[in-house]
Amino acid sequence: MSLLVPDIELVDAHCHLDLFPEPKAVAASALSRRVHTIAVTNAPSVFSFTQGLAIANSSVYPAIGLHPELVESHGQELSLFWPHLNATQFVGEIGLDYVKGSEEIRARQRRVFETIVRRCSEIGGKVMSIHSRRSVADVIAIVGGSFSGTAILHWFSGSSREVARATEHGFWFSVNPAMVASARGRALIADMPRDRILTETDGPFVLVEDRPATPPDVAVAVQGLAEIWNAPMEEVASVVLKNFRRLLAGTA
Ligand code: MN
Repeated sequence: MSLLVPDIELVDAHCHLDLFPEPKAVAASALSRRVHTIAVTNAPSVFSFTQGLAIANSSVYPAIGLHPELVESHGQELSLFWPHLNATQFVGEIGLDYVKGSEEIRARQRRVFETIVRRCSEIGGKVMSIHSRRSVADVIAIVGGSFSGTAILHWFSGSSREVARATEHGFWFSVNPAMVASARGRALIADMPRDRILTETDGPFVLVEDRPATPPDVAVAVQGLAEIWNAPMEEVASVVLKNFRRLLAGTA
């Protein structure tokens, strides 16, 4: 597939650079294609590695995270979270996941997520990339409607009613190639506010052409948005870039 995306800066708002076999090479591909890449992490103990990638590569924005599915095994790392939180504007991957696990594990996920959200809201200006699989209502309840930074629902898979509720509460959305490939994903995306949409790959978990998506593959999400909005790809890329710049400036 060759996509005729204009040579404009792109945005990958959720990519696990550290989970690729060659993170440096993937980061280099983001820089050469000019893809602003929020490099999420799944546990505080691995953040320093990604922070190192960002020091060497101006396209990489490191995010400090604690993935809900790792709360059971890595929850004790929460104490390591706070020193890193001062080092970056970006937070993720955090959130809730109710697909598996007991009510006790879910309650522990909520405690960890609530603690992180509260601390971020006290500091102000933080940009959070949030996982909300089968847990959108609780994610909305915990973040609330007056968070002092920006809360992005990454790979949203809830209902259209939940899109509306999240929108009312000020949430943003980041959409990926897997979402634009499904009819259900497209219907949800059509309801999301255009001034609060970003693109993402969620690489290496999302596949494009049967291989793990890397930051330049956000072009596939840009193309999907162009079809959904019935707008030229150039216009879509420019809307997403403007949205991202507002985030960086803290004026979102
Ligand atoms: Mn992810």
